[in-house]
Amino acid sequence: MFLTLKKNPIIIVVVVVIVVIAICGCVGAVCYSHMVLPAALPIYEHTIVIDAGHGGIDGGVVGSQGIKESDINLKMAFILQKELEGRNFGVVMTRTTKDALNNIKRLDMQARKNIIIKSSPTAVISLHVNRFSDSSRRGAQVFYDDTGIGKDFASAMQSHINKNINAKYGDRSNYEALGGDLFITKCVKVPSIIIECGFISNPYDEKLLLSEDYCKDLCKRIGEVVSASVVG
Ligand SMILES: [Zn+2]
Repeated sequence: MFLTLKKNPIIIVVVVVIVVIAICGCVGAVCYSHMVLPAALPIYEHTIVIDAGHGGIDGGVVGSQGIKESDINLKMAFILQKELEGRNFGVVMTRTTKDALNNIKRLDMQARKNIIIKSSPTAVISLHVNRFSDSSRRGAQVFYDDTGIGKDFASAMQSHINKNINAKYGDRSNYEALGGDLFITKCVKVPSIIIECGFISNPYDEKLLLSEDYCKDLCKRIGEVVSASVVG
């Protein structure tokens, strides 16, 4: 065979061309296979909906310097999103901008409910800021739907927050999780809670709510309870 090739340059050229085409074909196939295979998307076992309360023309309660609850809730929601994603949860946010989902409150709440239903979440956490006529009232408080199944989750969250947040940041009260008739906690039949992250009517709590460190600390503690409740 080699002797024949040596004697016939035309055959050598043909063989070289065939080999080159074969190699290109293989390389092409490899490239193609890389092109058509999409990067693996993360598949989350559990999705948590984070609802940043209020937004747009509905600013919620307002602090002494004019800071709106809706902005604090959104900042807190982003921090909690990072915390939960770090714990391998899928996260769906009901809003990611300062705007509400609709300027009419009823439609805004309905749009949030639609997002929650569509997400098939394992749990729902709605973030808010409290205000009270007695400005000495302090601390973070947890609420749940008293006709639903969120009581255990809410109680676990409240007791962890009492121990690690309310007791840590000065003269704050210990609370029991409170049941109520609350729209956002009734959207789906999974544990759904509202966390009032502090009292903006108290100057110390207001300062905490504006501090990144407090928000991160609170969200870390929320994340610990979500991990313990959902995975454990
Ligand atoms: Zn609120």
